[in-house]
Amino acid sequence: MKVHLRMVGCRLNQSEIDSMARQFQGMGHEVVDRPEDADHFVLNTCAVTQEASKTSRKLAREFHRSNPQAETTVTGCYAQIAPKELDALPGVSRVIGNADKDELVSFVTGEGIKVFDSEPIERTLPAQSLSRTRAFVKAQDGCDNECTFCVTTIARGRGRSRAIDEVLREVNTLRQLGYQEAVLTGVHLGSYGQDQGLIDGLARLVQALLQHSDMPRLRLSSLEPWDLAPGFFELWQDPRLCRHLHLPLQSGCDATLKRMRRNTNQEAFRALVHAAREAIPGLRITTDVIVGFPGETDREFATSRAFIEEMSFDGLHVFRYSSRPGTPASRMKNQVSNQVKRGRSAELLAISDSMEENFAARLAGTQQNVLWEQITAATPEGFVHNGYTDNYMRVKAVHPRNLSNRICVTDLGEFTDGVIHGTVRL
Ligand code: SF4
Repeated sequence: MKVHLRMVGCRLNQSEIDSMARQFQGMGHEVVDRPEDADHFVLNTCAVTQEASKTSRKLAREFHRSNPQAETTVTGCYAQIAPKELDALPGVSRVIGNADKDELVSFVTGEGIKVFDSEPIERTLPAQSLSRTRAFVKAQDGCDNECTFCVTTIARGRGRSRAIDEVLREVNTLRQLGYQEAVLTGVHLGSYGQDQGLIDGLARLVQALLQHSDMPRLRLSSLEPWDLAPGFFELWQDPRLCRHLHLPLQSGCDATLKRMRRNTNQEAFRALVHAAREAIPGLRITTDVIVGFPGETDREFATSRAFIEEMSFDGLHVFRYSSRPGTPASRMKNQVSNQVKRGRSAELLAISDSMEENFAARLAGTQQNVLWEQITAATPEGFVHNGYTDNYMRVKAVHPRNLSNRICVTDLGEFTDGVIHGTVRL
């Protein structure tokens, strides 16, 4: 079978679609880049915003138009909360909720493997798989919090964690496949292990991976800014742990945070950021902010903006609040107009640009390890490489040799159009 896989949304969805691709390949099926070449299309959908749901529907329709003979299986958060909407789309033959997602490959192929293949790989894998450098590994799913804007808890259910051994086996298998970096993902990764009664679950998981795997780089995806064990940042004494934290703030105003039912406030968040920066030199901290949450007045937004500037983040992901059916926020009074949301978003995006530029300026003139992930062009001077520093800044460099999937010491130079220009030291 030839399968084309796509995802919309977060790194957790990415980790799931990567895992499915490996399962299909491990069972001898071919993962193809173009939908026209596929017999089957698998789409991992997202419902976090109206836009994400729309994109999910659009992709399913586009696939059917490009290849009417092939069948489509959809899964993910949108499939969980609105299965009938997806079932009605042309070409969709199967809608699989999040609870059955781990068995999707078995359903599609009719064969009996449902978990990640953790045996040492000796078979030949398609080039597409071998060229990958960074793998997303799902450690946790679901969430026990009740942020009032969030549809994810409705779509993904209560928090649950994979066993440490299972995650470790997956990371070690990925290492054998040649990956240089594993990114641990989860809906609420910071709560890892709480369902097993652990209060320092994530710290234990990271320790186990650093101790029992030789993966050159380990990265943590988004961490809600609470539930982190005391001393958590000491783990970064191991340089294999990437110096980038994405700590979603959502608003810098305590009154808005309260309506959002977030488990943090200015004081707690400030303390967390100070502790992280003190423990981890060279750390980059980015965050998510929602603008136009119901009831966000001009004064609340100004407070939020001032706090964001005080925190000196190194980049922001800015979202305009999007009402999701079934969430408490969708029923709140004082919804904010789209025009106001657009204005606030533009203000924060401008701040984000200068934050990123400031961080890049601090790196200019330093040497950093860069993992080269992709070659984007060939020029008379050499191959144009794209890669990332461990603190997740994008770097571009030209080198006569193919450096894909290698970590190289690189001199960093100027930052233009969102990318740092580097010179590889070899
Ligand atoms: S912590 Fe809040 S925003 Fe994050 S998944 Fe849980 S409910 Fe949603």
